[in-house]
Amino acid sequence: MKTTSPLWITHPACTRHEMGPGHPESIARLHAIQAHMAACGLLPMFRQVTAPLAGRDALIRVHEPKLVDYLLAAKPKEGHYLRIDPDTALNAHSAEAAQAAAGAVMLAVDEVLAGNSRFAFCAVRPPGHHAERRRAMGFCLFNSIAVGAAHALASGIKRVAVLDFDVHYGNGTSNIFRDDPHVLVCNTYQDPYYPGWVSDPSRRHIVDAPLKAGDGSAAFRAAVETHWTPAIEAFKPELILVSAGFDAHGDDPLAGLELSFDDYAWIGGRIREWADAHAGGRVVASLEGGYDLGALAGSVEVFTQACA
Ligand SMILES: [Zn+2]
Repeated sequence: MKTTSPLWITHPACTRHEMGPGHPESIARLHAIQAHMAACGLLPMFRQVTAPLAGRDALIRVHEPKLVDYLLAAKPKEGHYLRIDPDTALNAHSAEAAQAAAGAVMLAVDEVLAGNSRFAFCAVRPPGHHAERRRAMGFCLFNSIAVGAAHALASGIKRVAVLDFDVHYGNGTSNIFRDDPHVLVCNTYQDPYYPGWVSDPSRRHIVDAPLKAGDGSAAFRAAVETHWTPAIEAFKPELILVSAGFDAHGDDPLAGLELSFDDYAWIGGRIREWADAHAGGRVVASLEGGYDLGALAGSVEVFTQACA
């Protein structure tokens, strides 16, 4: 009989990539998540696997080959950083970490499609949802969730939903799938805020639900039920992917939404309901933002518990 334990995927390179002293997208984030999930007793419930590295062929499904080749070849010496935008840099381990982050989502997709797990969490960094087809930006190198969605389509899946509740708009994912109605992209995000780019409203498979600074639980849940739910129910995804950023938490230092742990449990529960109703139960979530270590670790706990 097949195991259906949830899957936890990470890679050692994800705790070697860093972008310089004091950067909020730090190695400490993954350590905090891992330590908290172990301490609260949830981690042993997961089947824990090391991510494979996504290859060039998988990465160029969603990125210009020029960008992929540039990032794969960029190998600053140990202790040095190669800056690619004001917020984003590479060290000696960054390319491998970004390949592992994308490879984690690909493996997770394979495992849920094979029926070996119904839920997978990719505890990876760098995050990916700001990385567009032609440019890496905003702490992101390769768009891992987009690589996973493209991998699912290449595996024969016809309809993939990508749900993104990170506080920042997932411009990369919307950019990559702007002309591909096989991928439903749903976003909630603080507006106006970084990156200051939203999608063309004529693209009906890209659903933007903006929130304003100070909005909390009620506004978030109303935005999801008003904008996401009808779109998901009409689209009937065969697979749900989640850009799981936890920087809309009230304690997060980078943004101004006021979500609570209860909200992350709630959205995890709603995703579980949509997946069970339409997607054969199949959910893959990959870590995006979340910069207060306690809020991040506690949010991952309640979200994965509700979604698994
Ligand atoms: Zn974010």
